Amino acid sequence: MAEANNIPGSAAPPSGATAPYPYEAPVSQGLFDRAALVTPGGVNSPVRAFRAVGGTPRFMVSGTGPYLTDADGREYVDLVCSWGPMILGHSRPEVIAAVQEAVARGTSFGTPGEGEVALAEEIVARIAPVEQVRLVSSGTEATMSAIRLARGFTGRAKVIKFAGCYHGHVDALLAAAGSGVATFGLPDTPGVTGAQAGDTIVVPYNDLDAVRAAFAANEGQVACVITEASPGNMGVVPPLEGFNQALADLCRENGALYISDEVMTGFRTSKAGWYGVDGVAPDLMTFGKVMGGGFPAAAFGGRADVMGHLAPAGPVYQAGTLSGNPVATAAGVAQLRLLDDAAYAKIDAVSEQLRTLVSAALTKEGVAHRVQSASNMFSVFFTENEVRNYEDAKAQESFRFTAFFHSMLEQGVYLPPSAFESWFVSTAHDERAVERIAAALPGAARAAAEATQA
Ligand code: PLP
Repeated sequence: MAEANNIPGSAAPPSGATAPYPYEAPVSQGLFDRAALVTPGGVNSPVRAFRAVGGTPRFMVSGTGPYLTDADGREYVDLVCSWGPMILGHSRPEVIAAVQEAVARGTSFGTPGEGEVALAEEIVARIAPVEQVRLVSSGTEATMSAIRLARGFTGRAKVIKFAGCYHGHVDALLAAAGSGVATFGLPDTPGVTGAQAGDTIVVPYNDLDAVRAAFAANEGQVACVITEASPGNMGVVPPLEGFNQALADLCRENGALYISDEVMTGFRTSKAGWYGVDGVAPDLMTFGKVMGGGFPAAAFGGRADVMGHLAPAGPVYQAGTLSGNPVATAAGVAQLRLLDDAAYAKIDAVSEQLRTLVSAALTKEGVAHRVQSASNMFSVFFTENEVRNYEDAKAQESFRFTAFFHSMLEQGVYLPPSAFESWFVSTAHDERAVERIAAALPGAARAAAEATQA
């Protein structure tokens, strides 16, 4: 989720979930009760409600470095990092200073501004296949717009996506999406019509034969294949060797565009995101999270001849009142400029350290598990089998994650509240933060070992 936790459908009342958790947070609970009166399910994005794990969602009041502090005054080591964006940790002084400077000049003009040019230049400079880029405000907008552009460019309607891949809450893409859908067990969502989903073809992840069959059955009709560059919304399930290249080749052979969704992996898995890891050049790419420095900024971009079809240069309409917002772009530029090779080396090292620690603790307690990673993104599956697709991910013993999660929370470590999400680290996760996580792991592993299916 990335906040891939955006699937609707969590309407049950939040109260009553607190009983088994003696360490509940009374101030957060009070805020949650208040929120539930005025906001569906008490949250503005479903996974935040803790439905998958039970208990009271923590209302955070501040963040510094690798730590979050909740409304009850408890501090947590944060392994969610706002679902990816906070790759430099919370309240990084240089980013805060850039934001303050931008805010002092005004918050939105509805005109072009230099900040958006600077952010676009940062993106184009880092990622070779991105010749032109259009800024938007959320990852959802980025994928929605990229698909419209692919359809407008090719004059075709159909989209191939993968089960378990989440691309935001775009109507046409809420078919077999991961993350929130995985969390809430919704195969689909009310409100998406048959017509909206009818042009979406869903195939299993990492299954090239299924992609070939989909192209064959829809000859001349497929506008694009959209895939997470390396999926993180069914937990971390990297592409098998050669998978992304084969997708790019199949798209070219069939006159379709290859859209790589790097909203989660972009500027996280390397300086150039997952493209920097596997080097497979897509026709279009989507970005969000890290590039906004904690503000609502996202983008889609790619081949100049394709992007040239976008209004006002071309006929495919796309727009946004707050697109390229000066405060958001200032935060994004400041964050990206701090993300040099040394920063990624640090994040990769911390990630590796944590993966080793988690696995050792679970092994010691005899808990079947697999830690899967894609560069510095990782997640823990409670199964001994390799997880290659959504079906594999769903086969894990997620009740063990629930016990593990609550033990970690009680000990001051904030994990994603779902077994189907990536864990995120930052440059701010220093030795002290790692030690705190390490100290919590034995108890959490024991809790996972002792857990029984409800
Ligand atoms: N694409 C991917 C791969 C994501 O992980 C997400 C969000 O988690 C999105 C798109 C949607 O982004 P947003 O939540 O900013 O709309």
